[in-house]
Amino acid sequence: MKTHYKHEKTLVIVKPDGVQRSLVGEIVKRFERSGLKLVALKMLISDPAHIEKHYTLDPNWRRVTGEKTIAHYRAKGMAPPSEDPLVITDRVLKALMKYMTSGPVVAMVWQGAHAVKIVRKLAGGTEPLSSDVGTIRGDYVIDSYEMSDTDGRSLRNLIHASGSPEEAKAEIAHWFSSDELHSYSLVQEQILYDVNFDGTRE
Ligand code: ADP
Repeated sequence: MKTHYKHEKTLVIVKPDGVQRSLVGEIVKRFERSGLKLVALKMLISDPAHIEKHYTLDPNWRRVTGEKTIAHYRAKGMAPPSEDPLVITDRVLKALMKYMTSGPVVAMVWQGAHAVKIVRKLAGGTEPLSSDVGTIRGDYVIDSYEMSDTDGRSLRNLIHASGSPEEAKAEIAHWFSSDELHSYSLVQEQILYDVNFDGTRE
């Protein structure tokens, strides 16, 4: 039997810039008020090997992320830093290994219907310059591909969020042991999911 939508989980990491900007509470609040359930949370300082593994769990990440960068430059009528996606991501990955280990991060797991897509929607697009107003990356930070690439560093975009349910499974296992994930119900889930919910009148 297919597991119910409400069991979908996703990984969110408040990156070191999010912690330094004192935005942990604001970020948690945005996910919390959507109706998603927080099932794991911890602060830690990661190491470069852990970050490299995290970004390369998906064998396509290098190509896709390089292509995405090139497309953003083209859309702005600018020349990308390289025509080869893998050359771009080689630099990006090195920069990420530095950025993501520069201070504590807050890792969390959110659960609920369509958790992956809901979290990505609230997070906003990768580049803060073009992420939508109202999203976390659109509202709280001002970075761009051209500025970060010119300065030879990572885009500072406050959070990481898994890209698909399969990716989320692998990423959650990479950051959390199974005993750190909590299984419990929230009273509000009756309102969100119960098929026979028939009112609250006394
Ligand atoms: P997302 O985090 O939105 O899923 P990607 O998987 O494409 O984005 O990239 C992972 C992270 O790498 C981004 O969040 C960003 O911090 C960084 N990044 C991606 N592309 C670039 C780039 N061209 N220059 C600098 N940093 C980048």
